[in-house]
Amino acid sequence: MLYLDNSATTQVHPEVKDVMLPYLMEQFGNPSSKYYSYAENAKNAVKDARKSLASLLGCTDSEIIFTSGSTESNNMIIKGVADYYFSHGNHIITSKVEHPSVLETCKYLETKGFEISYLDVDQFGRIDTEALINEIRETTILVSLIWGNNELGSFNNMEAISAICLKKNVFLHTDATQVISKVEIDLSNYPGLTFLSFSGHKFHGPKGIGGAFIRKDRYDLLTKITPLLHGGGQEQGIRSGTLPVHNIVGIGKAAEIADNHISNNINKLIELENYLTDLLKEKFKGHIIFNNDNQKKIPGIISVQFKGVNNEMLVKKLSPIIAASTGSACSSSKPSHVLAAIGLSIDQVRSTIRFSMSSFLRKEDLDVFKQL
Ligand code: PMP
Repeated sequence: MLYLDNSATTQVHPEVKDVMLPYLMEQFGNPSSKYYSYAENAKNAVKDARKSLASLLGCTDSEIIFTSGSTESNNMIIKGVADYYFSHGNHIITSKVEHPSVLETCKYLETKGFEISYLDVDQFGRIDTEALINEIRETTILVSLIWGNNELGSFNNMEAISAICLKKNVFLHTDATQVISKVEIDLSNYPGLTFLSFSGHKFHGPKGIGGAFIRKDRYDLLTKITPLLHGGGQEQGIRSGTLPVHNIVGIGKAAEIADNHISNNINKLIELENYLTDLLKEKFKGHIIFNNDNQKKIPGIISVQFKGVNNEMLVKKLSPIIAASTGSACSSSKPSHVLAAIGLSIDQVRSTIRFSMSSFLRKEDLDVFKQL
């Protein structure tokens, strides 16, 4: 089976599995307990994992807050900012191509009296920075824009967006779920970016673990937000709950691997993407149209229309040999809002398939397409 749905989830790296197992068995302690070795070992393992994530992102260890994944991080940050800064303003800016965990959170906030601007995007799913500038008001408290799109791969211009938010003194959050390990990120270069969400299972870590970067302010204190989960005060009081040490160790290892191999990973994904693009062009000629452009995008994601073919039927038909998807796994029951936002007709949306690769693949694996 050729697995080409790595934007939905990835296989756990064997080294990740190996480092996790002891924390399910012998080293099962609670890192919030004290003195005895099970607890201290767990605490140190969490500390090391946090360090690996901070190194991957270019921030400090204490700016990493572990959560269950990006859905939670997106909810925590958007609702947390909305609640904490309500007295400063009730306006939030996002875009039409965000993940449902951002869009549905914003829709929920609309029912609570917030005003949300949903920015339009261009033909590849990128927002226009001038439109962002024009949309920022006195009452704007947060801008939340995806870094790299999960269906098309397109990057927003995060550097420019960060500079705009810094200048306008508005918090910026980005959903970076799909770009971790595929883009070199050094958060010290994005001073206007205050919040970022990430998720372990998108970069060969385990499911059920992710986190948020929350920038420290000039007094060296984490930017304040209202916690989503109140309780025992773990994660600096922002995200209470006993830490899943095995998962944290796993995401830490995945981050370390990503950090050590990032340029190889990017190059491999570019190579695989080019190879698959050429194979598809050769095989299907005028019967396909690519929705994505091939620059300023996450390497290894291809979105392609098979003219006149129903995408659900095609994905099903391919499923014994190729695992692909019609788009995001999180909104697979509805036609893609992302493809609609870039101006595709319903027929074009319903004929689009996403192939997403991982550097676990070999080029030869893709030759399966030749036999279709
Ligand atoms: N944001 C984006 C862009 C995603 O692709 C996903 C996963 N489909 C999520 C958020 C949600 O992540 P998680 O599965 O960790 O909740």
